[in-house]
Amino acid sequence: MSRYDLEDADLELLLEGQQRYRVAQLKKALYEDLIDVADLSVFPKALRERIGNAPELASALDPISQQVADRGQTMKWLFRLQDGAAIESVLMHYRKHTTVCISSQAGCAMACSFCATGRSGYTRQLSVGEIVEQVVRAAMAARTSGRRLDHVVFMGMGEPFANFNNVWRAVERITGDMGLGARHVTLSTVGLVPQINQLADKALQVNLAVSLHAANDDLRSELVPINRRYPIGTLVRSLEHYVERTHRRITFEWALIAGVNDSARDVAELASIAFPLKAHVNLIPLNPIDTDDLSSMQGSSPEQVERFAGGLGDLGINTTVRRTRGRSIDAACGQLAGKAAAILKEKP
Ligand code: SF4
Repeated sequence: MSRYDLEDADLELLLEGQQRYRVAQLKKALYEDLIDVADLSVFPKALRERIGNAPELASALDPISQQVADRGQTMKWLFRLQDGAAIESVLMHYRKHTTVCISSQAGCAMACSFCATGRSGYTRQLSVGEIVEQVVRAAMAARTSGRRLDHVVFMGMGEPFANFNNVWRAVERITGDMGLGARHVTLSTVGLVPQINQLADKALQVNLAVSLHAANDDLRSELVPINRRYPIGTLVRSLEHYVERTHRRITFEWALIAGVNDSARDVAELASIAFPLKAHVNLIPLNPIDTDDLSSMQGSSPEQVERFAGGLGDLGINTTVRRTRGRSIDAACGQLAGKAAAILKEKP
């Protein structure tokens, strides 16, 4: 249990015997002012000291390393959780906006073949508080740099839809208590169809990104094993339903891997899925992974990335190439995880 796991009723219990407005003051401090309880000057000193030591208000995340890249525009944290598990978050400043990429699980059970997190396995679900606190800490760091955090993407460690209930409650807190616009929140999935259907029924207009990476079942089942349970035809039907219900544009994420999924045939297959859905395609040249048995997977060359993007453009697909941030600090979906265990072992 940690401070951002607490529901209103828990805060009321914690402040039992106090004026009712103290609960609102505490919530404002936690979610809007982003200050520590110890610095809550509107509380009398004695009260501040009492709740400052309350275990329920403990922090969920212990930052054990912080790395900076891209001349200060990218910042990555490795956090230790209360039970010793490790997760990562990455804050990225762009010209017009500031985004945090957060984790939804410690480890991941999806076992995507190109992903270090997938290789290191699943530890556990993150709680609502562990998810929200990543956003709060990023917002505090952004404010220190004179910026305002305005986008949240669930593309760190884990498959968000495999922790759907906690992720959704965290989204409600991020958009409700913290005040970020739902349209500035992106949930990504490797294609868990039941949860895509659940999302289609939600009123909050968050964005959906689907990590496709291959557009035929043979290759996709190799890269993204969950494809065996939800093959492309099933996935596409759920996305058609999602688009029909929400009228929102989906994004396909495609990690470009040299010689694996970057051919003209891949362009044609991807376009045949993306075009009818009017989907946007986001191409991500794969970050090199420092793991022996994955070293054969290399990101596509800049020329090949350009050819692939051009091919999609010619077929009428709206395409962007995501500039890979933080290469020097392994900042990409799950790519810290392989090193997290080693770093943790070195720390007391
Ligand atoms: S790519 Fe994402 S979903 Fe796949 S194993 Fe890595 S963290 Fe999990």
